[in-house]
Amino acid sequence: MKIQEADAKSLLLAQGLPVPPWEVARTPDEVEAASRRFFASGASRVVVKAQVLVGGRGKAGGVKLATSPDDAREVGARILGMDIKGITVRKVLVAAAVDIAREFYLGAIIDRATRRIVLMASAEGGVEIEEVARQNPGAIHRVSADPQLGLLAFQARSLGLAVGLRDPLLNQFVAIAQGLYATMKANDADLVEVNPLAIVAEPGAGGKPQERLVCLDAKITLDDSGLARHPKLESLRDLDEEDHTDAQARKLGINFIHLEGTIGCMVNGAGLAMTTMDLVKHFGGEPANFLDVGGGARHETVAGAMELILADPNVKAILVNIFGGITRGDEVAAGLIEARAQQSRDVPMVVRIVGTNAAQAARLLQEARFETATSLDEAAEKAVALAKGAAR
Ligand code: GDP
Ligand code: MN
Repeated sequence: MKIQEADAKSLLLAQGLPVPPWEVARTPDEVEAASRRFFASGASRVVVKAQVLVGGRGKAGGVKLATSPDDAREVGARILGMDIKGITVRKVLVAAAVDIAREFYLGAIIDRATRRIVLMASAEGGVEIEEVARQNPGAIHRVSADPQLGLLAFQARSLGLAVGLRDPLLNQFVAIAQGLYATMKANDADLVEVNPLAIVAEPGAGGKPQERLVCLDAKITLDDSGLARHPKLESLRDLDEEDHTDAQARKLGINFIHLEGTIGCMVNGAGLAMTTMDLVKHFGGEPANFLDVGGGARHETVAGAMELILADPNVKAILVNIFGGITRGDEVAAGLIEARAQQSRDVPMVVRIVGTNAAQAARLLQEARFETATSLDEAAEKAVALAKGAAR
């Protein structure tokens, strides 16, 4: 689950990281009012930032500076309602603008190969890290945290040294890197990214400018499977931006991933779903989705899943492959019959149901004149042929 910058910043603050104060505004009026408060407390400029769950907002014109409350209002009016990579901006973050001396990239991710949390840093901050990785992979430095000991100070120091930081900023960097690691652990995040981590110049004691490291941007994605352990984080889900299919799948409690092909697949069990997709490809077809209806799926779930498959206009044929264990074959058959009675679009379907109550299922399907198959090979081959026939 992706969360907005403002929410990600709250999670960073909770771990003691240096994040400049901000407010979230939903209308030009609110932008003006918020900016007024920042100007009143000494800001000479404010920054207004689109809150959308995509990167590269700066380049897209979604991050702008303003020099007065009126100016902020205008800038806010321009950004609110703007389209960034297909997403309409509904809210903005407002903060006192800082003077940036340098921008770094700092991120924590889970490295599946080593099964550890890896911290990555680059002196080429500000731009998207994928861009740096493509053009200058040597500019990205990494250390991996020990699962027992965490991210040790010397590791964080070596990372800070690698991007050219020296004390006193290096010490600040160590605390920030360890804070990113703590944020990963505390929230079961699979990505915590600060880009830019910026050196900013602030008036220090005696008016002498002083440099400090601050987190100017924050991006966090949470592990969906970890959310059950953090009920409060569920409230950070941005329903404005959630894909309709994803929301529906979550409600039904099924795993659905949209793909580019023409054959809709309904399967129980992730392994069987992948095998089914492999066989579809083997017989020359392309799956339109990955779908695991889970163990013990009831007929409402089956009907709901069928609706999701049919919502994709590319789907030309549907392949149902159910291995009845806890899931009862007759229950699935009933769901399919119910789904077909309600469906608006007539799409050919091949059904293979084996295992628990397969005989009852076969009887139901036969009465309802469904196309059936006994082996998975046969089912996949038939589905591919039906999709090709329908395409013509
Ligand atoms: P992104 O483009 O979606 O990653 O959004 P960012 O939050 O990273 O903002 C893009 C860029 O805007 C940053 O790299 C900064 O250069 C600039 N920016 C953000 N906040 C400030 C600020 O307070 N002052 C100044 N001068 N620039 C800022
Ligand atoms: Mn950024």
